[in-house]
Amino acid sequence: MARVLFINGGSEGHINPTIGVVQELISRGEEVVYFCIEAYRERIEKTGAIVRTFDDQKFIRAFISGGRHYLLERINGLLLTSDVVIPNVLEQIEGEKFDYIIHDSMFGCGRILAQILKLPSISSCTSFAQSIESFEAMIEDFFTEVPAEIVRPIQDKYVSLTAMVKERYDVEVHSPYEIFCNPAPLTIVYTTREFQPDGDAFDSSFQFVGPSLTSRVTHNNLNFTEIKGKSPIYISLGTVFNQAVDFYRLCFEALGSTDHTVIMSIGYKAQVSDLGAIPDNFIVQSYVPQTDVLQYTKLFITHGGMNSTHEGLYYGVPLIVIPQSADQPIIAEQVAKVGAGVSLQMQSLTADQLHEAVGHVLSHPSFKNAASTMGESFRQSGGYHQAVDKIFEFTYQVR
Ligand code: UDP
Repeated sequence: MARVLFINGGSEGHINPTIGVVQELISRGEEVVYFCIEAYRERIEKTGAIVRTFDDQKFIRAFISGGRHYLLERINGLLLTSDVVIPNVLEQIEGEKFDYIIHDSMFGCGRILAQILKLPSISSCTSFAQSIESFEAMIEDFFTEVPAEIVRPIQDKYVSLTAMVKERYDVEVHSPYEIFCNPAPLTIVYTTREFQPDGDAFDSSFQFVGPSLTSRVTHNNLNFTEIKGKSPIYISLGTVFNQAVDFYRLCFEALGSTDHTVIMSIGYKAQVSDLGAIPDNFIVQSYVPQTDVLQYTKLFITHGGMNSTHEGLYYGVPLIVIPQSADQPIIAEQVAKVGAGVSLQMQSLTADQLHEAVGHVLSHPSFKNAASTMGESFRQSGGYHQAVDKIFEFTYQVR
């Protein structure tokens, strides 16, 4: 039995794929100590892991204080979280021994912690993997395209923050890539090589294990017996960029009073009471057990979050992707490329357009067929079983 330190400062999309991995590690005899924010304690404790938390408000404040407009600002934000996460983790694990560390590829200062603790490390990548070359091209664009008077203070901040990391933790940061992507000798990516853009460019230190799905019925207000027979359309913008009252009303206009049953998850930031009259064919909730709902869904209108996209395709559901931010435009492109759905622009979206797109996707079986083919390849890719096989292969080599 090995002791595993799991570090994940992420939101729900970064947490969910790790649930199956942790369950599987524990069922194969490992002991897992999992650091996350308090909101996910119950979910992670159910896996059998020992949960410890850090202060989510301090964490988010530190991240946001780096600035959100430019990539290097977000990297500064991640560096600023180091003072929230690292002393806290070190204090809570004082005197304990771990055999290896698994860390999120974005949140939680995983690479720095792995270096401080001198542990073999595995990166858990819940989005598409990013190569150092493509990342450096993005950084290069920032330096060449943004006016120097904007770049300078952001760059100065980056230099002073990396100096602080060196001074406090004796860890050298060689490139912003190390902070943004937390590379490790093994990176587990929860998609397939075929779905990953430029998938063949990644070497075997990137293991594409496919979606890691588990049933997570946390709270359920839905009547599944009713839903099963109705083959609903499901709408969700995920858990982060979901404060979109105008969009939810637009969905009412586009699909209210049609023969479709529509389940719409609106998140906790918007209130159901803000939406006005709810059409009779809509079921609106703050949160639904998505992986269960998708098993009966005929069409998923999604923001194109990595998890939502995978979950929809895993169950062979065609998609209408309306990307909001982050990696979602790239994911939307991939969905359209494999023919499993269409992509729409949020800014210019009209109710007629959405209505038409729904009719288009539902009346052309090619979308459903492509989604089913993708789902088949996702189901065959192994998910969390494969992830743990790869983790064990790696840790046996290095221990
Ligand atoms: N989710 C859910 N119920 C909801 C809304 C979201 O279970 O009502 C889950 C969904 O299954 C997915 C995650 O929340 O696993 C959202 O992650 P994603 O990467 O799609 O988007 P993000 O929330 O990070 O933007």
